[in-house]
Amino acid sequence: MPGAENAKIRLIMDLRRRGITDASVLDALERVPREEFVDIAQRSRAWEDRALPAPHGQSISQPYIVALMTQALELNERMIVLEIGTGTGYQAAVLSHLARRVYTIERIAPLLKQAEERFAALGLRNIVTRLGDGSAGWPEAAPFDRIIVTAAAEEVPQHLVDQLKPDGILLIPVGPRDGDQNLLSIRREIDGVSVKTILAVRFVPLESGVKRGG
Ligand code: SAH
Repeated sequence: MPGAENAKIRLIMDLRRRGITDASVLDALERVPREEFVDIAQRSRAWEDRALPAPHGQSISQPYIVALMTQALELNERMIVLEIGTGTGYQAAVLSHLARRVYTIERIAPLLKQAEERFAALGLRNIVTRLGDGSAGWPEAAPFDRIIVTAAAEEVPQHLVDQLKPDGILLIPVGPRDGDQNLLSIRREIDGVSVKTILAVRFVPLESGVKRGG
């Protein structure tokens, strides 16, 4: 695709300028071919810093938000991460380059299937997927070093806090449906949690139940 490489370099430079200073995060973004995660019709825009539509009324987050969230997770290659809201699989693919294993849950079956096909095609073997309602977390695989939720909750789900290791971080957008939400970083301390607000965001809402049909 002519110009794609330039668009990619421009985006990475732009992210650095906007405060994504963790070189390993920028490197992971460079390594994941975002064009493979967007609709064919949107491919020429894959390296623009914007959210793009995904099937079933969902969306693939803006690269800046993916980068910022990934950086806020403070990952290392020994960590086990849980992601809730696989969507296109893009965020999970980025995480897979920075953590030991990524567990990811999606409630819409055809979306999950497509993401699984992408992981296989890209040879990303440290991602484990599940169809389900992620609000309950993934008790059999817990505790996690990090949990990232890529849909907005009205309140912080206690199940997720409970599935963090000591000193673990839960990153989650919290706020009303279709309104302004805050991206929170919640760290599990010896007695309780500490909460930091990262920025105002807009994510699709966390829904309950599983959707199997197309
Ligand atoms: N991380 C994705 C973008 C997420 S969009 C990416 O990189 O492309 C939010 C996703 O969360 C949607 O796919 C939506 O179906 C899913 N979702 C919403 N509520 C959920 C729940 N309770 N459990 C699991 N997935 C959920």
